[in-house]
Amino acid sequence: MELTKRQETILEIVKKNGPITGEHIADQLNLTRATLRPDLAILTMAGLLEARPRVGYFYSGKTIDRVLAEKIHGVPVSDIKSVPIVVSEQCSVYDAVVTMFIEDVGTLFVVTEGGLLEGVVSRKDLLKITLGGQDIHKLPVGVVMTRMPNVIMVDLDDSVWLAAHKMITHEVDALPVVRKITTKKGLEGCEVVGRISKTNIVRFFVELGEGS
Ligand code: ADP
Repeated sequence: MELTKRQETILEIVKKNGPITGEHIADQLNLTRATLRPDLAILTMAGLLEARPRVGYFYSGKTIDRVLAEKIHGVPVSDIKSVPIVVSEQCSVYDAVVTMFIEDVGTLFVVTEGGLLEGVVSRKDLLKITLGGQDIHKLPVGVVMTRMPNVIMVDLDDSVWLAAHKMITHEVDALPVVRKITTKKGLEGCEVVGRISKTNIVRFFVELGEGS
């Protein structure tokens, strides 16, 4: 976020004189209160200024970087997640490829009959197996997937920042969003409730840049 010259001046005035009313800021700038209103709204919404009724504006003490970091850490993955595309372990490599095309995703999550996460299949897992010359109509994805407990995942209330950090650290394109459950049969595991891919992160980044 880039501030205009006038917004920077307002910030300086409030830093020095806060708490200060909008009227007094306007006086110092030889402007009307109405002219300043949009600037004060922007500075307040951005978290740089805080406003108290009947007291006035005061500086929040936060830098723009700090406000941005708080935003990225403050948004949970549940706000930006997509629908997970799941297959069973018995699904053939061929059907997994078809599913990826139809659903337009690069990662499939493999789940048990009871809905517990078992593994992850990526594009390269499927490409690699085709090099072996095996019958991909018969070969199940269970043979090529990355299996639990090696699956990297996030919880619904983990932050967008944590999801992005895990993807970069573990060099993977997508993470299952999970909720810990116990099945009717008493098995403990993770139910897949969403999918976070690099696309979700890029979309979030673009929206952040648009100030939404
Ligand atoms: P691609 O195959 O398109 O490069 P990835 O980089 O996501 O996609 O996958 C690389 C490897 O990491 C694959 O073997 C895949 O099974 C595995 N993988 C993908 N996502 C995860 C995840 N969330 N947790 C653990 N392993 C994963």
